[in-house]
Amino acid sequence: MKIVARNISKSFDGKVVLKDISLIIEKPGVYALVGPNGSGKTTLMRMLALLEKADSGILKYKVRDSEGYATLNTTPGIRRKMALIHNPAVMFSGSVEYNIAYGLKVRRTAGKIIRKRAQQVLEHLSLSGFEKRQARSLSAGEIQRVALARALVIEPEIIFLDEPTANLDPISAKLIEQTILTLARRGKKVILATHNLWQVERIANWVWFLNDGVISISGTAQDVLHKGDQAFWGKFLGRDNLFAGEIGKMGNRKLFKVGVTEFEVVTGLEGQAMASLNPTEIILSTQKLVSSARNVLEGVVTEAVSEGGLYKVTLDIGLLLDVAITKASWDEMGLQKGSKVYAVFKASSVRVWREE
Ligand code: ADP
Repeated sequence: MKIVARNISKSFDGKVVLKDISLIIEKPGVYALVGPNGSGKTTLMRMLALLEKADSGILKYKVRDSEGYATLNTTPGIRRKMALIHNPAVMFSGSVEYNIAYGLKVRRTAGKIIRKRAQQVLEHLSLSGFEKRQARSLSAGEIQRVALARALVIEPEIIFLDEPTANLDPISAKLIEQTILTLARRGKKVILATHNLWQVERIANWVWFLNDGVISISGTAQDVLHKGDQAFWGKFLGRDNLFAGEIGKMGNRKLFKVGVTEFEVVTGLEGQAMASLNPTEIILSTQKLVSSARNVLEGVVTEAVSEGGLYKVTLDIGLLLDVAITKASWDEMGLQKGSKVYAVFKASSVRVWREE
């Protein structure tokens, strides 16, 4: 199925939320819709999924290549080819099995087929054995996975996911990302509203940047993230550990220097550059480790906040470095504000580029 949106606008109570949005969803793959809170991501997805009406503009759906474009009035089945999942998702009261079978029961699918399909999706999302559990008693990560299974069982062609991994444990987040990639490989279109640039980098093919109700940047994820204005992305979306510095040579090693801090990087560049480091690719250690990682930097914990099953620890290593570790690691190491600790990371974990 193909969606064409032209000049879609929407206001709530006189406040313009979306202005002249035009886009096409045609090729299978992952489309990331990024932008600050309140920029209209949810509203746009709800309109594309036909759950909300636009004030003006044209929305067209092509169900099969041979057919002309349809609107909801001419082809009421369009909505059924799409699924939208909010986060947190609302579970029906009842078992996981009941939640998952619901959409198929409504479609009068035979019981045997329902059970088979339900088993397949549950297995895919590592939820086998959860059939009889009460859906509302599950953890946030499990609920999100059940919500995805519930949507997938009806085999939609286009899946809209609103911040699907926000505030989830890392295992559920990873399973959801893997499922998104599998769907894309199987020819589905996944539209993903997200704040997480690392996630965009990992799984998205295309990016739309929505700001103040307007798509101000769009393109392939490669172009937008790597050739676009990195500092802008970093500041706008709060990409952690984004540094402006200078690359110098020491023998055949390359060192990235920011003020008094320096660390080894792998790059062909020299001189002024930007660097970023994914907080999940840094290991914390209370002792100076001997390891194959090239960078072992001493620091002091200045802050730690719990963020969706992880701890985001800020270290002062001469500059502020964010590190994401599990709560179990945090507890085991007995860390607290003021603790002395080493940040360990590979030279190849640092992404380095120059602003053109
Ligand atoms: P995002 O998903 O990017 O955070 P939303 O689409 O949720 O943005 O919201 C965009 C703006 O529209 C916000 O200012 C929000 O308060 C407003 N909004 C969204 N839905 C409604 C509604 N049903 N009634 C009134 N205002 C709404």
